[in-house]
Formats: sequence, structure tokens, C-alpha cells
Amino acid sequence: MKTVAVIGGGASGMLAALTAAEDKTQRVLLLERQQRLGRKLLATGNGRCNLTNTGASLENYHGEDAAFARPALEAFPPAAALAFFRGLGLLTAEEYGGRVYPLSNSANSVLDVLRLALDAAGVEQRCGESVRALRRNDKGFTLVTDGGELGADRVIVACGGCAGASLGGVKDGYELLRPLGHRRTALHPALVQLTTAPDYPRALKGVRVQCSLRLMRGGEALAESRGELQFTERGVSGPAVFDLSRTAATEGGALSLHAALLPLGEEELLGLLRARREAQGTLAASELLTGMLHNRLGRMLVKYAGLGAATPLSELTEKELRRVAAACRDFTLPVTGTEGFDHAQVTAGGLRTAEFDPETLESRLVPGLFVCGELLDIDGDCGGYNLQWAWASGRLAGRLGT
Ligand SMILES: Cc1cc2nc3c(=O)[nH]c(=O)nc-3n(C[C@H](O)[C@H](O)[C@H](O)COP(=O)(O)OP(=O)(O)OC[C@H]3O[C@@H](n4cnc5c(N)ncnc54)[C@H](O)[C@@H]3O)c2cc1C
Repeated sequence: MKTVAVIGGGASGMLAALTAAEDKTQRVLLLERQQRLGRKLLATGNGRCNLTNTGASLENYHGEDAAFARPALEAFPPAAALAFFRGLGLLTAEEYGGRVYPLSNSANSVLDVLRLALDAAGVEQRCGESVRALRRNDKGFTLVTDGGELGADRVIVACGGCAGASLGGVKDGYELLRPLGHRRTALHPALVQLTTAPDYPRALKGVRVQCSLRLMRGGEALAESRGELQFTERGVSGPAVFDLSRTAATEGGALSLHAALLPLGEEELLGLLRARREAQGTLAASELLTGMLHNRLGRMLVKYAGLGAATPLSELTEKELRRVAAACRDFTLPVTGTEGFDHAQVTAGGLRTAEFDPETLESRLVPGLFVCGELLDIDGDCGGYNLQWAWASGRLAGRLGT
């Protein structure tokens, strides 16, 4: 009986093992360095696991050659992933923006159905066993693990990327494949918080706002997004920020983040500010935006616009009102960088896709060697796209070229 070894018991490795095990003529061995399978999966979606996105298409993916992802995504699109999980007994619910979660709202449900399926399929699982080296031999491969050496006819490497270090993100996959001739691109943290000049974020820590964002380098707009921004101790976070973080991490130069904090045109906003000045002239300027924005954010913007907090509204000039309106429509934060891999949800960059066949995910350098998941130079947007890639690529690699 031929042996297939899958290195890495995360999202893509579990799918690859389950798929390989559909061929009952082969023995499937799943090796995981951590004490349990799917540790990162449990942390996804804040513990709720945003397992796919019904709108996923190639535009949601990035890498030196994002089109590499097409065959895997077309062969196992979100609808197929949902049907597959339903077949395992998982009930799901679709939320805004096509994001799909387990109906239980618990990532545990996703991991549980996968674990039960692995048991039922007879996949041998070895947790707490790290693969230290991978070598070619006459018949196939030798894997050097903590427990000794073992042979395999074919190998699927599913070690993930180095994002989410506290959840087990490591560089093992790149290192295992380097002696076999595989190279990687530069690695950057993505879907990660931006760090900004320290003037405002700390005072606003915890404040959330729906806004439109533009990432600029000088006068050049590099990327745009819409959605929730959250102020943090060292900068800004939230889905709208995550959507820009890949660009911020990979582009150089002096970057700035421009936030439109109210969805109002300039004249409409000015009209509201003038009306407040007329109607509530005795109030302090610090209250100018009260009721329009989170109170801490409103007060900060008044300060940012250079107004004295205690000045009565009736004394504010037209020019000052315009400055506040401009601040609401274009609040600018100088970007100092991104947080590191510890805080990132995904790795931008990875194994060079040109060295793998996109139709099978088999190595073009080492026949019988397959790779899937985040380890490859493919990363997705925020919203379930990365797990969709993990499932689709794991499914394709698990077919072992058949
Ligand atoms: C906090 C957080 C939240 C996220 N939320 C979402 C979300 O809601 N939706 C979404 O789509 N994506 C989300 N992601 C991204 C998503 O989790 C990953 O893209 C996905 O898990 C990648 O799957 P993978 O199989 O390639 O890697 P992983 O799931 O990381 O699995 C790789 C496995 O390989 C094991 N391994 C590594 N080296 C070895 C070795 N030498 N020997 C044996 N085993 C090894 C690791 O321990 C790990 O278990 C999130 C990520 C993080 C960090």
C-alpha cells in the first residue's frame, strides 16, 4: 500500500488528507507539530470561523501571479466548500458581505466535523510530531520527524505561513522545501493593524467608526477601502484597515491614511455645523460634533482642527467650521508601519508559484511533492477568502494529480 504523508494539520492539510483518503488504496498519514490539529482554525473569525465567502473570486487573491489560484478555486468554489462541509454535518449561516460562519457561531464546530471525518476516513494522525527535514529517496521521500524517520511515496506540504505566530505560524514549510530547490518571495504580514504616529490613536483606543479609507504615498492613492476602523493602542485596526494592510506592508515610502469619518458631502456637513452653532450657541466647541460621531472622536476632531475646546459655539467663525468639516472628511494619520507576524492573520508572499503546476499543485522540480494553503505565494482579502483558499488548494493537492 502506498503512503501519502501530509505535513501540517491545519485547514489545508486536513482537507488534503481527507481528499487523499478517498482513495482507499493508499494509507494517509497526517503529521502536526502542535499538540492538536487546527489550532489556528479555532482562532479564526474571533473564534467564530469565517470559513468562506460566497462572493470569492480571483480578484480577492494576491501574489506575484494571483491567477495561479484559479484552477483550485474553480474546482472547489465556495458553493462546493459549503456542500462539502454540509456533507460533514456542519450547518452554516451567511452574513453581510457573503461571509459564512458556522450556525453555532463556534469555530470548534468546523474543527470537530473535520476531526470526525478524518477519523472516519482512517487518516492516521500524529500530533506533537514536527517534521524537521524532507528528503528525496529512490522510492519516494524520507521524512525526518521528532520521532525518527519515516518513508512516504508522496508528500503534501501544508505547513501554513508565519502569520499568527502565537497560534503556531512558523517558517518550517519554506525551510523544508529549500533543500529540494524551492524558493520563496519576500514575506510580509498582511490583514494586520497599521501603526500610526502616536498623536491620536491612544486617546481614541477602542473607538470604532464606519468610514472610507485611502492609503496615500504623497499625492498618490495606493489603495482604498470602506468599513469599520478601530483605534488601538498603537494605531488602527478593523476590516477596512486590514484591506489596506497588504499594500501598506509591501509598498515603501512615507505613507498616510486618510479617513472620511462621516458619509456626508462638504456642504451638507457644513449646513449641520452651522445649524448647531445657531441653535446651541452657548455650548462649548468640544460639543460641536456630539451626536454625529463617537463623543471621544468628535472632541478629538475639534482639537485636530485647531479649535479651542471651551470656545462657545456662537463664537466659531465660518473658517473654523470649514476646518472641522474638512477634518471629518479627511482625518489624516501618518503611517509608521504595520504590526508584525504575531498580529497578522495571513502571510503575503510565500513559495514561488511558478515552481508548481496550478492544475495539480505538484512541484515542477520534485515529482510526487505537492503543496497547498498559505505556504504558497497566494493570500486573500479579509472576509473568509483565506480559508476558502486553504480548502480549495487542500482539496486539489489531496487529489495528488489524478
Ligand atoms: C487570528 C487569525 C484569524 C483568522 N481569521 C480568519 C477568518 O475568519 N477567515 C479566513 O478565511 N481566514 C482567517 N485567517 C487566516 C487562516 O486561518 C489561514 O489563512 C489558514 O489557516 C491557512 O491554512 P493552512 O492550512 O495553509 O495553514 P495553517 O492553518 O496555519 O496550518 C498549518 C499547520 O502546519 C503545522 N506545521 C507547521 N510546520 C510543521 C512541521 N514542521 N511539522 C508538522 N506540522 C507543521 C502548523 O502547526 C499548523 O497547524 C485567520 C488567521 C489568524 C491568525
